[in-house]
Amino acid sequence: MGTTQLVEDTGTGSVHLNPATIAPASAQKKRSRWQSLTKSVGAWFDSGVMPEGVAEFPDFKIDWWRTLPFILLHLSCLTVLLVGWSWVAVGVAVSLYVIRMFAITGFYHRYFSHRTFRTSRFMQFVFAVVGNSSVQRGPLWWAAHHRHHHRHSDENRDQHSAARHGFLWSHIGWIMSKRNFPTDIRGVQDLAKFPELRFLDRFDNLVPLVFGVSLFLAGWASEIYAPGLGTSRWQMLVWGFCISTVVCMHATFSINSLTHMFGSKRYRSKDESRNNLWLALITLGEGWHNNHHYYPGAARQGFYWWEIDITYYGLWLMSKIGLIWDLNPVPREVREANKLPA
Ligand SMILES: [Zn+2]
Ligand SMILES: [Zn+2]
Repeated sequence: MGTTQLVEDTGTGSVHLNPATIAPASAQKKRSRWQSLTKSVGAWFDSGVMPEGVAEFPDFKIDWWRTLPFILLHLSCLTVLLVGWSWVAVGVAVSLYVIRMFAITGFYHRYFSHRTFRTSRFMQFVFAVVGNSSVQRGPLWWAAHHRHHHRHSDENRDQHSAARHGFLWSHIGWIMSKRNFPTDIRGVQDLAKFPELRFLDRFDNLVPLVFGVSLFLAGWASEIYAPGLGTSRWQMLVWGFCISTVVCMHATFSINSLTHMFGSKRYRSKDESRNNLWLALITLGEGWHNNHHYYPGAARQGFYWWEIDITYYGLWLMSKIGLIWDLNPVPREVREANKLPA
């Protein structure tokens, strides 16, 4: 006989299985693998193909297909070796880093996640679009995961706890995992009632795509109309979009990883959060992470005048011109209580 005989031991004797009867099972497996792949790739364009809600933790499986654009974005930075640099391109990259870092800390974090000030519906949408241009998913996804982090900080179910799951997982692993791709809408009902925010959250690569293409076109226009600037369409894309975005991503991720590892603790908090001046400078104020975990309801994270919090200065300025209002302060009695011995 040239065919392999498949045998299942039932415990009461052997039953011979015809390979034809098990073929549908393997075909089904193949089909479900194909479905999962098309779902992962489909989610590049429409994250709505992934069901809302969150699978049970722990699920450390990386979704490599879903993560491919994230990996390619990192690799694209290497093309700087081909396109070279210019002062204009580097200046644009730095400016867009600062603007989008501010959008992440001031809008995605302090507004959407913690609601530490108020604004109009129009400005709320603008904040969401600018935040979305940082390529850190939509505002609902970002806020839902961040609120979960505060509820379960450094517990086993915290999706990016460096103490529980190590540096690499807390920095990038969790973002690439199957479990963390969907938006758990239950934790952001206050934001989900706005259809425009749900739209951005669902098509979360749309704004980044338009943003990247616009930079490329601006660079092209400069080649034709302002060659004196010494830049090019490819430099605008690589410096202005790729490099600036990747650096902004890792600065943001360092708050999830490094500020739960390195720095000082001022307040008794139930987690490993720390205050770190260097990370506060890089992230425009987010490094005062122990302050923030202790009292997340405040618009400021530097609690004392010497704790540099550039995002707060920006928000304060925006409140002075009426774009936002009702910035939550840190009550003095809260600030002075629950300190650890120096
Ligand atoms: Zn934290
Ligand atoms: Zn927070």
